[in-house]
Amino acid sequence: IHDRDGWIWMDGEFIPWREAQVHVLTHALHHGSSVFEGERMYGGSIFRLTDHSQRLHDSANLLDLQMPFSVAEIDAACKATCERMGLEDCYVRPLVWRGSEQMGVSARANRIHTMIAVWEWPSYFNPDTRMKGVRLCWAPWRRPSPDTAPVTAKAAGLYMICTLSRHHAERAGYDDAMMLDWRGYVAEATAANVFFVQDGVLHTPPVDAILNGITRRTILSLADGMGIEVVVRHIRPGELSTFSECFIVGTAAEVTAVAEVGEYRFRPGELTRRLLTAYDDLVHGRA
Ligand code: PMP
Repeated sequence: IHDRDGWIWMDGEFIPWREAQVHVLTHALHHGSSVFEGERMYGGSIFRLTDHSQRLHDSANLLDLQMPFSVAEIDAACKATCERMGLEDCYVRPLVWRGSEQMGVSARANRIHTMIAVWEWPSYFNPDTRMKGVRLCWAPWRRPSPDTAPVTAKAAGLYMICTLSRHHAERAGYDDAMMLDWRGYVAEATAANVFFVQDGVLHTPPVDAILNGITRRTILSLADGMGIEVVVRHIRPGELSTFSECFIVGTAAEVTAVAEVGEYRFRPGELTRRLLTAYDDLVHGRA
């Protein structure tokens, strides 16, 4: 992805895509001091842009990274980058990281950098494919407790758990992996939150060990508007046998039905279809 034409917004200016580089002694590379976002532009407008810019700021604060740009400046820079790239339907990736002036665990004086890159990234699947249901295995890694890592940050370091789990899943022939949290409760997929259906009611884990997904929040408010009851609660793996439907939600996954998680099977149905359609309508401005 590094070898292409285009522009990347870096620390307030546009630089040619291939020249957007960092030094090998960058603190973020050695000690994981970076946070990021993943957003999607639909038809020229970035869905819930300010929520993403705010989460970027919150994540940066949790990692002691003082961002030199405000939420409003990040909003504007995201839009400007899409415009500069001439894209109206794309993925947007802001990243904040600690630079390379000093090496060591402590590097408080190092400059905090910000970049935004955008690229074409069509929906993984069309709605019919997303209703077929993906296959998940159980992840070999658990989400840590809030006193082990800043679990509410969208911090690059936390993604080693996701990447290892996802590689494990792909090698075993699955689409993705379902992670548990440190207590053994069902947490989330490697890049998406999860919902279950039981007798017309949605069940989803609370955000105490998972990423507080913006798609998850959107689904909660869509469900509210549609009069669908939602129970936010801890879910044990063994309870999966009591759910009829399961779906994952995220900026990239949008709403995608799940056909299996480990030994449990689901039949994508009515509630998954309604929320998938409602989400599609909302992001495409058809709501
Ligand atoms: N959980 C994880 C681990 C993720 O990486 C993502 C994707 N950002 C999500 C959940 C979904 O978050 P969002 O809806 O904000 O994209």
